[in-house]
Amino acid sequence: MAQSSVLGYPRIGPNRELKKATESFWKGEIKESDLEQKAREIRLLNWNTQKNAGISIISSNDFSFYDQMLDMSVLLGAIPPRFAADGKSIDLHKYFLMARGLQSVPAMEMTKWFDTNYHYIVPEFYKNQKFRISSNKPFSEYEEAKAAGIKTRPVIIGPLTYLLLGKLKESGFSRFSLLEPLLEVYKEVLFKFKQLDVEWVQIDEPALIMNLNSEAKQAFLDAYRYFSEKVPGLKIMLTTYFGPLSDNISLISQLPVPGLHLDFVRAPEQLSKALSLLPKSTVLSAGVVDGRNIWKSEFSKALEVLEVIVKSRGKENLIVSSSCSLLHVPLDLDLETNMEPDLKSWLSFAKQKLREIVTLQKAVEHGRQSVLKELAENETVFKTRRESKKVFVQSVRERLKNISPADYSRKSLFRIRQKLQREKLKLPSFPTTTIGSFPQTPDVRAARAKYKSGELAKDMYEKLMKEKIKDAINRQNEIGIDVLVHGEPERNDMVEYFGEMLDGFAFTKNGWVQSYGSRYVKPPIIFGDVQRPRKMTVEWIKYAQSLTEKPVKGMLTGPITILQWSFVRNDQDRSLTARQIALVLRDEVQDLEAAGIKMIQIDEPAIREGLPVQKSEWQTYLKWAVECFRLTSSGVKDETQIHTHMCYSEFNDIIEAIAEMDADVISIEASRSQMELLDAFKAFKYPNEIGPGVYDVHSPSVPTQEDMENLLKKAVKVLPRENIWVNPDCGLKTRGWEETTMALKAMVQAAKAMRECKVSV
Ligand code: GLN
Ligand code: ZN
Repeated sequence: MAQSSVLGYPRIGPNRELKKATESFWKGEIKESDLEQKAREIRLLNWNTQKNAGISIISSNDFSFYDQMLDMSVLLGAIPPRFAADGKSIDLHKYFLMARGLQSVPAMEMTKWFDTNYHYIVPEFYKNQKFRISSNKPFSEYEEAKAAGIKTRPVIIGPLTYLLLGKLKESGFSRFSLLEPLLEVYKEVLFKFKQLDVEWVQIDEPALIMNLNSEAKQAFLDAYRYFSEKVPGLKIMLTTYFGPLSDNISLISQLPVPGLHLDFVRAPEQLSKALSLLPKSTVLSAGVVDGRNIWKSEFSKALEVLEVIVKSRGKENLIVSSSCSLLHVPLDLDLETNMEPDLKSWLSFAKQKLREIVTLQKAVEHGRQSVLKELAENETVFKTRRESKKVFVQSVRERLKNISPADYSRKSLFRIRQKLQREKLKLPSFPTTTIGSFPQTPDVRAARAKYKSGELAKDMYEKLMKEKIKDAINRQNEIGIDVLVHGEPERNDMVEYFGEMLDGFAFTKNGWVQSYGSRYVKPPIIFGDVQRPRKMTVEWIKYAQSLTEKPVKGMLTGPITILQWSFVRNDQDRSLTARQIALVLRDEVQDLEAAGIKMIQIDEPAIREGLPVQKSEWQTYLKWAVECFRLTSSGVKDETQIHTHMCYSEFNDIIEAIAEMDADVISIEASRSQMELLDAFKAFKYPNEIGPGVYDVHSPSVPTQEDMENLLKKAVKVLPRENIWVNPDCGLKTRGWEETTMALKAMVQAAKAMRECKVSV
């Protein structure tokens, strides 16, 4: 019989119960046992929700207090020495310490999980590292479910994904030297499962969608051969997701595992190859319901895939499944009580996806005629979506067709623009500026919340925001900054703020998704063609500019960042959606210019995050991403100075694309790496102006003039001094005014000192 499964379920709780309990535990308000109790309630609810929906294979150990990779490190005993475990088991205090650190013990690093907005805690590897089972979590959660009457399929991260995604903390050894000891503990873990009477275990190996070298491929073979030899009888469902297996598909067909999961949402093209390579006895778990997006599944399309599988290998060994864990989508659409009914009818969150999977499974098992009603409903949904005037707007389509190559380029080359801008702006050398936001004090946030709930009238709210802007301008003038910003008091979030003013965007009330630990985000939904009903930022910036002689930068979020941090429509290419966003931002840029604004910053902190997992796809992505930035920024006169900002510090592999963006000035994060990243800019001979951040805004400590001068002295050794700007690493919205003022005063002094000192390349 065909079965149904999901690879994992959101663990945040319907009303973010896990966040609330976790944060209370951190503050010492509740005991460890209270937090454990909350966690048990969430797990039980999740299991029962899946069971009641009719899912036949339910996972356990998909719960986590913080992150599943961190859980693996703890399970395997890969505890970095600074958290000295002294053979004791890791309690929750120590667990959270590893994730969050303290002043005296730095946290483990965190990084993005493939191309999701979820962040995992990076395993640390040391020479001759020992591993041993150091947690009981997967076993006790299995038993907990069993006691509740549900026999689950426990899930763990596979040894190669674990090993390949970790970081070597010492030199002089290869990560593969750890494979053998690692496999030994994995074997023990599997053995314990077997003893507990587990029938199937789910082992996640998303690393199989990456380009693997021959050593990694061999390690895969070794690992799974070892498991089948050492723990015979325990059945492994090996899962891959987030993309195609590409040439790893032949590797995977050689692995001695009885079950395999493939992502047919991201990579439907791998179906025929999979069918020809996989033995008929392999249980095939087909990921046909999208675990990465919030759209309803189109049943006819999913059934096409499933029916091909059934035709070729029967339905005995088929599992209908989500493409990946449902961790990456919000929990329950039913909680959205205020949403437009048509939009709501197009969506499906985790709980709704369970039903979709079960319906599809039924269709496979008993034929389409067994679910005629559901199929008809589904067809109607897609018809209304396809025909909706909110989704397809003729004028937007026309405009896209009429973009001309000239729209992607500034009128003159940077050299010429730079000269014109210098004549017009008359800035000193080493001009000082900031990245946009100033401290969002509690009164600002409270006013925004009241305005949103209708408690505060629009004019009162605007008056208050204008006071904040005036205050920010006065403070900057007093500090002596050269290029000012309005401070962004009116913005909650750099993407939400713009999305709320654009057509084609929708927002949820409760659509939270875990980003990391207890940090959840509520991404906007881009459902339709993007239009700008009215100017978005002009009034605020114009007001700020009216208060000062110094130039005030207009401040916008770039098209790629808006795209990256939203749920994106799946009925057209991402690049097309990005171009639509670029066009409305282009209008805003031009309106700012027309309002007399001389400099406009277009933030793109997410360009790098958008890089596809497979390197072979990087160029295609970078090409359209850069084009979108240029479409946004190129409609202005040569004299208008375009800034951009990025807050990460790895540029080596994308420096060409950054240069192609052709912003007149780029500000970047640089202080944490002690300006080392500038080597990339030097080696490439980056031509335009650049503001390497001279202090880390994420740290509450106030940098001294000397700290910042030293960094600037490093900068002048690698960059032409006349191209250097002086600014912090990122926006200041999370900081307080006092520290900010002190830091910026010192920054201005450092810039002044640099103007005197003649050191250069
Ligand atoms: N202009 C934004 C700010 O200063 C930029 C934020 C960011 O780079 N993430 O807050
Ligand atoms: Zn930033």
